[in-house]
Amino acid sequence: METLGYYNGIIGPLEELRIPMNDRACWFGDGVYDVSICAQYTIFALDEHIDRFFNSAALLYMTPRISKPELAELLNTLVRKLDSPTQFVYWQLTRGTAPRIHTFPEHTAPNLWVTLKPFTLPDIYGKIKLITVEDTRFFHCNIKTLNLLPNVLASEKAKQAGCAEAVFHRGNRVTECSHSNVYILKDGILRTAPLDNLILPGISRAHIIVQCGKLGIPVDETPFTMEELFAADEIMISSTSSFCMSASHLDGYQVGGKAPELLRQIQDALWTEFHQVTGSAL
Ligand code: PLP
Repeated sequence: METLGYYNGIIGPLEELRIPMNDRACWFGDGVYDVSICAQYTIFALDEHIDRFFNSAALLYMTPRISKPELAELLNTLVRKLDSPTQFVYWQLTRGTAPRIHTFPEHTAPNLWVTLKPFTLPDIYGKIKLITVEDTRFFHCNIKTLNLLPNVLASEKAKQAGCAEAVFHRGNRVTECSHSNVYILKDGILRTAPLDNLILPGISRAHIIVQCGKLGIPVDETPFTMEELFAADEIMISSTSSFCMSASHLDGYQVGGKAPELLRQIQDALWTEFHQVTGSAL
Protein backbone atom coordinates (compact mmCIF):
# COMPACT_ATOMS: atom_id res chain seq x y z
CA MET A 1 0.00 0.00 0.00
CA GLU A 2 1.14 3.55 -0.61
CA THR A 3 -0.80 5.13 2.26
CA LEU A 4 -2.82 3.60 5.03
CA GLY A 5 -5.73 4.68 7.17
CA TYR A 6 -7.05 2.80 10.19
CA TYR A 7 -10.26 3.61 12.01
CA ASN A 8 -11.37 1.37 14.89
CA GLY A 9 -10.07 -1.72 13.12
CA ILE A 10 -11.07 -0.79 9.56
CA ILE A 11 -8.08 -0.49 7.25
CA GLY A 12 -7.84 1.04 3.80
CA PRO A 13 -5.96 3.55 1.66
CA LEU A 14 -5.94 6.87 3.55
CA GLU A 15 -7.65 8.68 0.68
CA GLU A 16 -10.59 6.27 0.73
CA LEU A 17 -11.29 5.84 4.43
CA ARG A 18 -14.34 7.67 5.83
CA ILE A 19 -15.16 8.67 9.38
CA PRO A 20 -18.67 9.26 10.78
CA MET A 21 -19.77 12.88 10.95
CA ASN A 22 -20.65 12.37 14.60
CA ASP A 23 -17.05 11.65 15.52
CA ARG A 24 -16.28 14.21 18.22
CA ALA A 25 -13.25 15.30 16.20
CA CYS A 26 -15.64 16.82 13.66
CA TRP A 27 -17.71 18.69 16.23
CA PHE A 28 -15.16 19.84 18.75
CA GLY A 29 -11.67 18.77 17.78
CA ASP A 30 -12.23 16.67 20.90
CA GLY A 31 -9.28 14.33 20.85
CA VAL A 32 -5.54 13.91 21.19
CA TYR A 33 -2.87 12.70 18.84
CA ASP A 34 0.75 11.71 18.61
CA VAL A 35 3.14 11.20 15.77
CA SER A 36 6.51 9.66 15.10
CA ILE A 37 8.69 8.88 12.12
CA CYS A 38 9.62 5.41 11.11
CA ALA A 39 12.63 4.44 9.03
CA GLN A 40 13.42 0.92 7.96
CA TYR A 41 9.97 0.09 9.37
CA THR A 42 11.19 1.02 12.86
CA ILE A 43 9.17 3.69 14.65
CA PHE A 44 11.45 6.08 16.47
CA ALA A 45 10.94 6.56 20.25
CA LEU A 46 7.64 4.73 20.01
CA ASP A 47 7.27 4.00 23.73
CA GLU A 48 7.79 7.65 24.61
CA HIS A 49 5.24 8.75 22.03
CA ILE A 50 2.77 6.20 23.31
CA ASP A 51 3.35 7.33 26.91
CA ARG A 52 2.67 10.93 25.92
CA PHE A 53 -0.38 9.86 23.95
CA PHE A 54 -1.88 8.05 26.93
CA ASN A 55 -0.99 10.98 29.15
CA SER A 56 -2.69 13.46 26.78
CA ALA A 57 -5.74 11.19 26.69
CA ALA A 58 -5.88 10.94 30.49
CA LEU A 59 -5.70 14.74 30.78
CA LEU A 60 -8.89 14.84 28.71
CA TYR A 61 -10.44 12.01 30.75
CA MET A 62 -10.21 9.53 27.88
CA THR A 63 -9.06 5.91 28.11
CA PRO A 64 -8.10 4.15 24.88
CA ARG A 65 -9.78 0.81 24.30
CA ILE A 66 -6.37 -0.80 23.93
CA SER A 67 -3.32 -0.96 26.17
CA LYS A 68 0.06 0.63 25.48
CA PRO A 69 1.69 -2.66 24.33
CA GLU A 70 -1.33 -3.38 22.11
CA LEU A 71 -1.06 0.03 20.50
CA ALA A 72 2.68 -0.45 19.94
CA GLU A 73 2.01 -3.82 18.34
CA LEU A 74 -0.75 -2.38 16.16
CA LEU A 75 1.46 0.45 14.90
CA ASN A 76 4.39 -1.87 14.28
CA THR A 77 2.10 -4.18 12.30
CA LEU A 78 0.53 -1.37 10.28
CA VAL A 79 3.81 0.23 9.19
CA ARG A 80 4.80 -3.11 7.61
CA LYS A 81 1.83 -2.82 5.23
CA LEU A 82 3.28 0.22 3.45
CA ASP A 83 5.64 -0.04 0.49
CA SER A 84 7.83 2.75 1.82
CA PRO A 85 10.07 1.91 4.81
CA THR A 86 10.25 5.61 5.82
CA GLN A 87 6.91 6.92 7.04
CA PHE A 88 5.04 9.62 8.87
CA VAL A 89 3.22 7.64 11.56
CA TYR A 90 0.26 9.52 13.02
CA TRP A 91 -2.39 8.27 15.42
CA GLN A 92 -5.20 9.96 17.31
CA LEU A 93 -7.91 9.22 19.79
CA THR A 94 -11.24 11.03 19.75
CA ARG A 95 -13.81 10.99 22.52
CA GLY A 96 -16.23 8.85 20.53
CA THR A 97 -19.19 9.08 18.22
CA ALA A 98 -22.30 10.86 19.43
CA PRO A 99 -24.71 13.63 18.43
CA ARG A 100 -23.33 17.09 19.10
CA ILE A 101 -23.56 18.08 22.74
CA HIS A 102 -20.83 19.90 24.61
CA THR A 103 -20.74 17.58 27.62
CA PHE A 104 -19.08 14.17 27.35
CA PRO A 105 -21.44 11.68 25.71
CA GLU A 106 -22.28 8.71 27.90
CA HIS A 107 -22.76 5.76 25.59
CA THR A 108 -19.68 5.82 23.44
CA ALA A 109 -16.05 4.78 23.60
CA PRO A 110 -13.01 6.53 22.14
CA ASN A 111 -12.22 6.09 18.45
CA LEU A 112 -8.68 5.22 17.40
CA TRP A 113 -7.37 6.54 14.10
CA VAL A 114 -4.01 5.80 12.51
CA THR A 115 -2.67 7.30 9.32
CA LEU A 116 0.53 6.31 7.59
CA LYS A 117 2.17 7.95 4.62
CA PRO A 118 5.63 7.94 3.07
CA PHE A 119 8.02 10.49 4.50
CA THR A 120 11.19 12.09 3.19
CA LEU A 121 13.72 12.68 5.92
CA PRO A 122 14.73 16.38 6.05
CA ASP A 123 18.15 17.79 5.36
CA ILE A 124 18.73 18.63 9.01
CA TYR A 125 21.99 20.45 8.34
CA GLY A 126 20.38 22.98 6.00
CA LYS A 127 19.51 26.53 7.20
CA ILE A 128 15.94 27.76 7.59
CA LYS A 129 14.28 31.17 8.02
CA LEU A 130 11.96 31.99 10.93
CA ILE A 131 9.43 34.70 11.86
CA THR A 132 8.08 35.73 15.26
CA VAL A 133 4.36 35.68 15.95
CA GLU A 134 2.66 36.73 19.16
CA ASP A 135 1.29 33.68 20.94
CA THR A 136 -2.46 34.20 20.76
CA ARG A 137 -3.50 30.57 21.09
CA PHE A 138 -6.74 30.32 23.03
CA PHE A 139 -7.36 34.02 22.37
CA HIS A 140 -9.66 33.47 19.42
CA CYS A 141 -12.95 33.31 21.27
CA ASN A 142 -14.55 35.66 18.75
CA ILE A 143 -14.26 32.92 16.12
CA LYS A 144 -16.97 30.28 16.15
CA THR A 145 -14.32 27.66 15.72
CA LEU A 146 -14.70 23.91 15.98
CA ASN A 147 -11.82 23.81 18.45
CA LEU A 148 -14.02 23.95 21.52
CA LEU A 149 -12.02 21.84 23.89
CA PRO A 150 -11.81 24.40 26.72
CA ASN A 151 -15.55 24.94 26.31
CA VAL A 152 -16.19 21.20 26.39
CA LEU A 153 -14.16 20.78 29.57
CA ALA A 154 -15.85 23.73 31.29
CA SER A 155 -19.26 22.51 30.22
CA GLU A 156 -18.58 19.06 31.60
CA LYS A 157 -17.30 20.57 34.85
CA ALA A 158 -20.55 22.52 35.15
CA LYS A 159 -22.55 19.36 34.53
CA GLN A 160 -20.57 17.44 37.15
CA ALA A 161 -21.35 20.25 39.60
CA GLY A 162 -25.06 20.02 38.77
CA CYS A 163 -24.98 23.35 36.92
CA ALA A 164 -26.18 24.42 33.48
CA GLU A 165 -23.27 26.61 32.45
CA ALA A 166 -19.78 27.70 33.38
CA VAL A 167 -18.90 31.39 33.45
CA PHE A 168 -15.39 32.04 32.21
CA HIS A 169 -13.14 34.68 33.71
CA ARG A 170 -9.64 35.76 32.86
CA GLY A 171 -8.16 36.81 36.15
CA ASN A 172 -10.85 39.00 37.63
CA ARG A 173 -12.45 39.86 34.31
CA VAL A 174 -15.66 38.01 33.42
CA THR A 175 -15.82 37.17 29.74
CA GLU A 176 -18.56 34.74 28.66
CA CYS A 177 -19.74 31.18 29.27
CA SER A 178 -18.87 27.85 27.71
CA HIS A 179 -21.69 28.19 25.19
CA SER A 180 -23.45 31.44 26.08
CA ASN A 181 -22.80 35.10 26.68
CA VAL A 182 -23.19 36.45 30.20
CA TYR A 183 -24.74 39.65 31.57
CA ILE A 184 -25.37 41.34 34.86
CA LEU A 185 -28.15 43.72 35.77
CA LYS A 186 -27.05 46.31 38.31
CA ASP A 187 -28.88 49.48 39.30
CA GLY A 188 -31.09 49.32 36.22
CA ILE A 189 -28.19 48.88 33.78
CA LEU A 190 -27.46 45.78 31.70
CA ARG A 191 -23.76 45.04 31.59
CA THR A 192 -22.01 42.59 29.30
CA ALA A 193 -18.42 42.12 28.14
CA PRO A 194 -17.34 44.17 25.12
CA LEU A 195 -16.99 42.60 21.69
CA ASP A 196 -13.33 41.69 21.43
CA ASN A 197 -11.32 38.54 20.92
CA LEU A 198 -12.29 37.21 24.35
CA ILE A 199 -15.96 36.57 23.61
CA LEU A 200 -18.11 35.23 20.81
CA PRO A 201 -20.26 37.96 19.28
CA GLY A 202 -23.52 36.23 20.18
CA ILE A 203 -26.49 36.77 17.92
CA SER A 204 -28.77 36.62 20.97
CA ARG A 205 -26.53 39.18 22.65
CA ALA A 206 -27.03 41.54 19.71
CA HIS A 207 -30.80 41.06 19.87
CA ILE A 208 -30.87 41.61 23.61
CA ILE A 209 -28.98 44.87 23.21
CA VAL A 210 -31.45 46.04 20.53
CA GLN A 211 -34.40 45.09 22.73
CA CYS A 212 -32.89 46.93 25.69
CA GLY A 213 -32.59 49.99 23.46
CA LYS A 214 -36.29 49.76 22.66
CA LEU A 215 -37.15 49.31 26.34
CA GLY A 216 -34.97 52.24 27.37
CA ILE A 217 -32.72 50.01 29.47
CA PRO A 218 -29.14 51.34 29.38
CA VAL A 219 -26.49 48.86 28.21
CA ASP A 220 -22.89 49.10 29.34
CA GLU A 221 -20.45 47.06 27.25
CA THR A 222 -17.38 47.42 29.43
CA PRO A 223 -15.66 44.55 31.23
CA PHE A 224 -16.99 43.66 34.67
CA THR A 225 -15.34 41.78 37.50
CA MET A 226 -16.02 38.64 39.49
CA GLU A 227 -17.02 40.76 42.49
CA GLU A 228 -19.55 42.61 40.33
CA LEU A 229 -20.85 39.29 39.06
CA PHE A 230 -21.49 37.98 42.55
CA ALA A 231 -23.00 41.30 43.66
CA ALA A 232 -25.28 41.69 40.62
CA ASP A 233 -29.01 42.31 40.97
CA GLU A 234 -29.48 39.61 38.34
CA ILE A 235 -27.16 37.35 36.33
CA MET A 236 -28.35 36.36 32.88
CA ILE A 237 -26.91 34.24 30.11
CA SER A 238 -27.94 34.08 26.47
CA SER A 239 -27.53 31.82 23.48
CA THR A 240 -29.51 30.84 20.43
CA SER A 241 -30.85 27.71 22.12
CA SER A 242 -31.22 28.93 25.70
CA PHE A 243 -32.48 32.43 24.68
CA CYS A 244 -31.91 34.33 27.91
CA MET A 245 -32.05 32.65 31.29
CA SER A 246 -31.15 33.98 34.69
CA ALA A 247 -29.12 32.38 37.44
CA SER A 248 -30.05 31.58 41.03
CA HIS A 249 -26.70 30.16 42.12
CA LEU A 250 -23.07 30.72 41.29
CA ASP A 251 -20.39 28.43 42.68
CA GLY A 252 -22.97 27.26 45.20
CA TYR A 253 -23.82 30.77 46.43
CA GLN A 254 -27.26 32.30 45.98
CA VAL A 255 -27.09 35.18 43.47
CA GLY A 256 -29.40 37.63 41.73
CA GLY A 257 -33.11 37.79 42.36
CA LYS A 258 -33.01 41.51 43.11
CA ALA A 259 -34.40 42.91 39.85
CA PRO A 260 -36.97 40.36 38.68
CA GLU A 261 -39.21 42.87 36.86
CA LEU A 262 -36.38 44.33 34.81
CA LEU A 263 -35.13 40.85 34.02
CA ARG A 264 -38.61 39.78 32.96
CA GLN A 265 -38.94 42.81 30.65
CA ILE A 266 -35.81 41.74 28.77
CA GLN A 267 -36.84 38.10 28.63
CA ASP A 268 -40.34 38.98 27.44
CA ALA A 269 -38.95 41.24 24.71
CA LEU A 270 -36.64 38.55 23.30
CA TRP A 271 -39.26 35.82 23.65
CA THR A 272 -41.91 37.94 21.92
CA GLU A 273 -39.52 38.85 19.12
CA PHE A 274 -38.71 35.18 18.57
CA HIS A 275 -42.38 34.16 18.42
CA GLN A 276 -43.34 37.07 16.18
CA VAL A 277 -40.55 36.45 13.69
CA THR A 278 -41.12 32.69 13.58
CA GLY A 279 -44.88 32.98 13.64
CA SER A 280 -45.03 30.53 16.53
CA ALA A 281 -47.44 30.68 19.42
CA LEU A 282 -46.35 32.50 22.57
N1 PLP B 1 -20.43 32.22 23.56
C1 PLP B 1 -20.06 30.98 23.18
C2 PLP B 1 -18.72 30.48 23.57
C3 PLP B 1 -20.95 30.17 22.43
O1 PLP B 1 -20.56 28.93 22.04
C4 PLP B 1 -22.23 30.68 22.10
C5 PLP B 1 -23.15 29.86 21.31
O2 PLP B 1 -22.89 28.77 20.89
C6 PLP B 1 -22.58 31.96 22.53
C7 PLP B 1 -21.65 32.71 23.25
C8 PLP B 1 -23.94 32.56 22.19
O3 PLP B 1 -23.99 32.88 20.83
P1 PLP B 1 -25.41 32.90 20.07
O4 PLP B 1 -26.27 33.83 20.83
O5 PLP B 1 -25.08 33.38 18.70
O6 PLP B 1 -25.97 31.49 20.10
